[in-house]
Amino acid sequence: MIAYPELYMMIDGERVTGGNRDTHKVLNPATGDVLAELPLATAADLDRALAAAQRGFRRWRNTPAQERAAVLQGAARLLRERADAIGRIATLEEGKTFTESRLEVGMVANLFDFYAGECQRLYGRVLVRPAGLRSTVIKEPVGPVAAFAPWNFPLSNPGRKLGAPIAAGCSVILKSAEETPASALAVLQALLDAGLPGDVAQAVFGVPDFVSRHLLASPIIRKLSFTGSTVIGRHLLKLAADDLKRTTMELGGHGPVLVFDDADIEKALTMMVPHKFRNAGQVCVSPTRFIVQDTVFDDFVKGFAERAAAIKVGNGLDPDVGMGPMANPRRPEAMERLVADAVARGAGLETGGERIGNQGFFYAPTVLSNVPVDAEIMNDEPFGPVAIINPYKDEDAMIAEANRLPYGLAAYAWTRDAARQRRLASELETGMLTINSTAVAAPDAPFGGVKWSGHGSEDGIEGVEACLVTKAIHEA
Ligand code: NAD
Repeated sequence: MIAYPELYMMIDGERVTGGNRDTHKVLNPATGDVLAELPLATAADLDRALAAAQRGFRRWRNTPAQERAAVLQGAARLLRERADAIGRIATLEEGKTFTESRLEVGMVANLFDFYAGECQRLYGRVLVRPAGLRSTVIKEPVGPVAAFAPWNFPLSNPGRKLGAPIAAGCSVILKSAEETPASALAVLQALLDAGLPGDVAQAVFGVPDFVSRHLLASPIIRKLSFTGSTVIGRHLLKLAADDLKRTTMELGGHGPVLVFDDADIEKALTMMVPHKFRNAGQVCVSPTRFIVQDTVFDDFVKGFAERAAAIKVGNGLDPDVGMGPMANPRRPEAMERLVADAVARGAGLETGGERIGNQGFFYAPTVLSNVPVDAEIMNDEPFGPVAIINPYKDEDAMIAEANRLPYGLAAYAWTRDAARQRRLASELETGMLTINSTAVAAPDAPFGGVKWSGHGSEDGIEGVEACLVTKAIHEA
């Protein structure tokens, strides 16, 4: 039996729990069992966090960049030391395999190391002026940030939300998803143990709409950072607009994968099938619409379905499991609805299409083929272990399908034709494009979308810049 920690909120450096607060039951998605009760914030808790964030911002903006870097580096080291323990907690509350959880700890550590370097390179510039005059441009931290992170990457989402403001010299109030609080607390704890003052970064939990309305109504908060669905993103943008807060919005996607007949099909299958079923497909950059040239369509569907059917599904803590459960009961319900709708409209069910077992939130790796364009799943992000594979005649038709939806987060292409690779890079409406690979994110690369997939980037130098404002100073 692996221990799951006691839950709390971290406000102004203090663990807050108990009282008459409402609580949320955190579930193990592999069993449906209750892991622990999570305390939910009251208005007074949020006001206390806001006051601390205001104080923490004044302190942190004046802290030398080298000290901020030392905290981030120290946290990265602690995360690596604690990777096994933290990884198990993430698997217990989110369901993904332990291998994936451990990798995620590494992603956060690598990002903190990168930001530790970047925060020491936040240069301004001096403009050319006649003698006696001086004009300078400087970058300053935007102010306290309210950050909302979802459950699907219980470690790296909080890592992104905390790392960028801390590097830039901001304070941050994090509300991570109530489904996966212990992972977020573990990331924050590494920062606090590395010397971060408790008023600089805090973690609250609560009824999401109550917390976001309360925090975004406060003039103390100068920036909103949100990762989640487009629907909620749009709602939060409207709340942030009242006070003209800055925003970074990382929203949904519906990842097109263009597979051309000149591609290495075996390699494409070998790499894309595990990428599709990573975290049971609950990934914003998950490949979802496989847009395959008709000449290789049959082979591609057959190879994909065979590989999908061979994936062992089970408890993510079991070492030979390739895919864990879905993270919460809403997701298998959504899969049942979307797959039934597609099949009723004439789609082929190549494998899967059903829940597994009678406990936990398992859904089989599923492959649909020839899905009509008006099926719900062709238009709404599936966010689950379902691959859609459809045939198309040529490059123009494939690009048109890729760009058909209002989303534009990640796109993938498989082709050995260099001229075509350049055309795709130019034509595809996407924030990130991966050609003959699955490597879609890295600490030094901007991560974000266009159109309904949001705006602004996390990671890369862009992640820190998103937490900075520009000031021009003219002296005579
Ligand atoms: P949801 O839209 O209810 O919630 C998505 C996230 O937003 C959750 O973390 C939730 O806690 C948070 N949230 C919800 N209402 C909020 C509010 N008023 N203020 C602040 N935060 C709020 O959906 P869900 O059932 O949790 O997830 C399903 C959908 O969310 C998926 O279909 C997918 O499109 C999207 N999603 C996207 C990502 C991503 O990485 N972009 C991650 C998780 C979920």
